[in-house]
Amino acid sequence: MSGISRSLLTLHDGRTSPDLAPLPDDLQERANHLKAMGYFLDADIIGICEVPIYAWYSHDGQGNPIQPRHRYAIVLLIDQGYETMAASSGDDWMSSAQSMRAYLKGSVIACTLADYIRQLGHEARAHTNDDSEVLHIPLTLLAGLGELSRIGELVLNPFLGPRFKTSVVTTNLPLAVDKPIDFGLQTFCQSCMKCARECPCGAISFGEKVMFNGYEMWKPDVEACVRYRVMNPAGSGCGRCMKVCPFNKPGLMRYRAALWLAMQVPACHRLLLWLDDWLAYGRRIPAWKWWWDLEWRDGRIQQ
Ligand code: SF4
Ligand code: SF4
Repeated sequence: MSGISRSLLTLHDGRTSPDLAPLPDDLQERANHLKAMGYFLDADIIGICEVPIYAWYSHDGQGNPIQPRHRYAIVLLIDQGYETMAASSGDDWMSSAQSMRAYLKGSVIACTLADYIRQLGHEARAHTNDDSEVLHIPLTLLAGLGELSRIGELVLNPFLGPRFKTSVVTTNLPLAVDKPIDFGLQTFCQSCMKCARECPCGAISFGEKVMFNGYEMWKPDVEACVRYRVMNPAGSGCGRCMKVCPFNKPGLMRYRAALWLAMQVPACHRLLLWLDDWLAYGRRIPAWKWWWDLEWRDGRIQQ
C-alpha cells in the first residue's frame, strides 16, 4: 500500500485553473459545499480552520525552505474501521496494515479535493502521511475535531475516539471556519488510565500533565514507543493505546447515553471505566478475525 500511496505524490499539488468558477459569496455555503464533496469521497469527519504560522514546517525533506502560502486548512478524518481493530491485538501485523489503509484513503481523498479546488480557480495542496508541509495535530485541534488525550501527541475525537488518520488540504479559497471543541476529555483522561495500563512498553504517563514546549500535556515516552514499534517481533508497529481506549466504539447511536455521561457527568467516569472493563471492551475478539497471518517458519510459509 505504501508504494501506491507514494505514487500519489505528484498529485499533491498542481496547476490552478486560470478561470474562476462562480461560487457563492457566503463563506459557510462554500465550506458546506467542500465538506459535502469530502463526505461524498468517503471522509468520515471534516473540519476547517485557519492555518497559524507555527503549523507550517520550516523545511521540506530535502532541506528546501517552505513558504507558508495558504490561509485555510480542510482537515479530513479517516476512520480506521472498528471491526478489524477489534479482532486485532493492536500490535500485530494487521493493525499496521489497517493504519496504512486509512493513510492511503486519506491521500486519495485529499488529492482529489485539492484538484477540485484548483479546477475552481483557487490554489490548493494536499498534505498526507507521505508528504506534508503542515503539522496535522494543531490543525485537527483548531478545526474542532478533538482534544489532546493522555496518549500524548494524539488527538481524540468524541465519535471516533483515537481510531482515525488525518489528511489535510490547504487553500487560499476563503471559507467559514470551525471552532475548537471541549467535550470534557481532560477530566475523563484524568480518571481513565486504560491506555497507560495496556501500553506494552510503559510509554504512556500515569501521572499529571507537564509543561512541554510551552504546552500543558501528558508527555509520552516517545523513544520507548518508537523502540517498541520498530523492534516489535509480532508486528510492524503498534496501536494498542488506540484499540483499548473507551472512546473506541462502533457507531454513534448505541453508545449515545454513555458518551453523554462521559462528557457531561464527571462523577460517572469511574463507573463508565469499570463497565468498559467489565463488558470486555478493548479485548481481542478472535471470532471477528477474518484474515490469515502467514509467517515464514522452518523454511516455508505457514499460518
Ligand atoms: S503505540 Fe503502542 S507502544 Fe506506543 S504508546 Fe501506544 S500502546 Fe504504547
Ligand atoms: S484510554 Fe482513557 S486515558 Fe487513554 S486516551 Fe482513552 S480516555 Fe484518555
